[in-house]
Amino acid sequence: MIVKLKRDAKKTDIKHLRDHLINQGFEIHDSVGANYSIFGVVGDTAQFDIRSLYAYPCVDSVIRVQEPFKKVNRKFTPEDTIIDVGGVLIGGNELIVMAGPCSVESAEQVDIIAASVKKAGAKILRGGAFKPRTSPYSYQGMGVEGLKILKDAGLKYGMPVISELMSTEHIDVFLEYVDIIQIGARNMQNFALLKELGKTNKPVLLKRGFSNTIEEWLMSAEYIMAGGNPNVILCERGIRTFEPYTRNTLDISTVPIVKKLSHLPVIIDPSHAAGYWDLVESLSLASIAAGADGLIIEVHHEPEKAMSDGAQSLKPKNFKELMRKASIIGDAMGRKL
Ligand code: PEP
Ligand code: MN
Repeated sequence: MIVKLKRDAKKTDIKHLRDHLINQGFEIHDSVGANYSIFGVVGDTAQFDIRSLYAYPCVDSVIRVQEPFKKVNRKFTPEDTIIDVGGVLIGGNELIVMAGPCSVESAEQVDIIAASVKKAGAKILRGGAFKPRTSPYSYQGMGVEGLKILKDAGLKYGMPVISELMSTEHIDVFLEYVDIIQIGARNMQNFALLKELGKTNKPVLLKRGFSNTIEEWLMSAEYIMAGGNPNVILCERGIRTFEPYTRNTLDISTVPIVKKLSHLPVIIDPSHAAGYWDLVESLSLASIAAGADGLIIEVHHEPEKAMSDGAQSLKPKNFKELMRKASIIGDAMGRKL
């Protein structure tokens, strides 16, 4: 880290700061300029609150030169991480598409959708059973019964399943019924939940919060990994901006940025980013072209009747067409679909 001292810093204040940093185990390299002096501070700052230095009156500014995330960091783990979900490899050469309804509504509904997405080439079945709805009066999901329906369909069609966990109280039931635990945008910084998931070995798909920076997102992944669970998949699902023509703004730049910073797989959710079904195909193709490891897409056979997110759900025939085009872009990127 680099600490720039104020122009008029008092010698006694500078000594106070120097003693503090040395006490914390850091080494200091001085650089004295005509106007400003700088401390080059060497040591592991991962557990150090660099903002605390602003409490010292002689400090003008502090710059971190090391990323605060370690286990997530590509610098320490150069090879891409590949996560094995019941034989489906996420982060390898193959592009993995997860698809299914926003919400599990009935066994028949999941069966129809699972059959169609499987046929079109999806490898993992999605379906929400505990729904994070903005309004308490909106459909809240089928709960544990929904997880069982999803699991049964997954077994029938040979697809691992993914569903969103919202509370620590349901971890055990999720460990039993789902193959990937989804942490939704609204819970990206639910640290109690992340810590509990760190104690398991279950693959976790961690969505980026819609108001979070990439670094905050990676720090949430660090929580899970620091707890001992290396199986983290990152998912960009759009962030909140001023633009009303989409539900969220798909931040496609996360793909090359996260690929540079981290070894973890990155997948894109174009459905929640777009908010409208007719935008989903374009965003999906662009995501693959940007280097994403896969997609998670909402599909419903009767979107008009969907209990949630019908506006952004693809009909099976549109999903099939998307998969056809995705495979062409995948070929161009050297990835198999
Ligand atoms: C979902 O996947 O249905 C969902 C609620 O996603 P997000 O957390 O991205 O809003
Ligand atoms: Mn949804």
